[in-house]
Amino acid sequence: PSTSTTPTPPTHNAFPPLSTASVARSSRIAPHSHIKALGLTPEGFATADGAGFVGQNNAREACGVAVELVKSRKFSGRALLLVGAPGTGKTALALAISHELGAKVPFCPMVGSEVYSTEVKKTEVLAEAFRRAIGLRIKETKEVYEGEVTELTPSESENPLSGYGKTVSHVIVGLKTVKGTKQLRLDPTIYEAILKEKILVGDVIYIEANTGAVKRVGRSDAYASSYDLESETYVPLPKGDVHKRKELVQDVTLGDLDAANARPQGGQDIMSVMGSLVKSGRTEVTEKLRREVNKVVQSYVDQGVAEVVPGVVFIDEVHMLDIECFTYLNALLESPMAPTVILATNRGNSLVRGTTDIVAPHGIPTDLLDRCLIVKTDGYTRDQVAKVVQLRANTEGLKLGEGVIDRLAAEGEKSSLRYAIQLLTPASILARLSGRDQIGLEDIGEMNELFLDAKTSASLIGQSGDYAP
Ligand code: ATP
Repeated sequence: PSTSTTPTPPTHNAFPPLSTASVARSSRIAPHSHIKALGLTPEGFATADGAGFVGQNNAREACGVAVELVKSRKFSGRALLLVGAPGTGKTALALAISHELGAKVPFCPMVGSEVYSTEVKKTEVLAEAFRRAIGLRIKETKEVYEGEVTELTPSESENPLSGYGKTVSHVIVGLKTVKGTKQLRLDPTIYEAILKEKILVGDVIYIEANTGAVKRVGRSDAYASSYDLESETYVPLPKGDVHKRKELVQDVTLGDLDAANARPQGGQDIMSVMGSLVKSGRTEVTEKLRREVNKVVQSYVDQGVAEVVPGVVFIDEVHMLDIECFTYLNALLESPMAPTVILATNRGNSLVRGTTDIVAPHGIPTDLLDRCLIVKTDGYTRDQVAKVVQLRANTEGLKLGEGVIDRLAAEGEKSSLRYAIQLLTPASILARLSGRDQIGLEDIGEMNELFLDAKTSASLIGQSGDYAP
């Protein structure tokens, strides 16, 4: 017999804001914060230095076509393969594609070699990445009371049990908006919450009707001068009615739901509530659990409570996967709830891992390669390196002195764009240590004395293959 419970939509459960959504991978996205989108005209042509992107016009336009295919649902069962030298913006392109697909579209980046874990099966790592790339937008209607407190009157009554002592039977709360004042007769538990939050007359508050959670939004303008409270924030009176229904939206991924249901916590926050979708004593995410989660999610979608938001899974260094993973990847591409799959590699012809004799372009078996749209990224000119370095310096709030940008561009041309970008942060530390607020040429010079770029390091390796002293 199935162990799943009948799904109940979360309409009448109040969810506090979710803070546990998949943010763990954001550190991999940070170096690309200057990339806003693909930078294309409505006709699909690359704009000059559009949306944080420099050059790479062909690749950007090709990715734009892929975005159109995804949007018109003509990309299922396929994948995009980005091919190019390291640091030529493959990750940046994948991220830009996810931006183009819409705000809050999940982007789940991974590196091929991540599948080789000693604890988790290779195919599990891939399956999990795919689940984390499928978002779920849960719509919830909350009933709230909001307004400025004009009156707080606890009504006390004799305690019927003990015969002496008083107990609060209800509380009268006066709430005012610009449209007028209303008196509410509320539950005693709300009075406790009001006491706990140290709510005073003149505070603008927010009470959730079904949980009784009370939140102090700030103090009203009218009381600004008469009270001297710590951490005061003055807010204008709420405009609408005291009692209103609020549409709230929460974003989670299927991966979050799988994990939460494998380790049910119990509690009031959204992950706990969403973590008891299916009854399970499991501590592991299994295929069966995923199917059950899917079933519940599907019923939410049918009831109009939730909406599925397919995102992007990005597998860098895809040649590191082996034949078993590639076969599984083919199957994942076929699954009904598949995200957009973007692969990247810098390899030419190579042996498909896990085989002894299959050599294929990019180390990818031809049956998967057949499903791919392949986009090539180009190397950068000195000018282009200069522009990207300047963009990064701006986003990181670093000031560059006279001649620094030219010097970094030259370094970038000599080794790689990534090397030039990577010099920025340590150079800024050297500048700060010398008491300057902008990076000077001397900092770049010192960097070069302290560190080697890849090519210089390689040139020091002698004929014997050993490192020369
Ligand atoms: P690898 O194959 O090593 O993973 P990659 O091709 O994925 O490299 P990225 O990581 O995307 O390269 O690029 C390196 C850095 O340069 C990132 O900070 C990225 O945002 C930036 N960058 C790359 N290309 C461009 C571009 N055309 N315009 C602006 N920034 C770029």
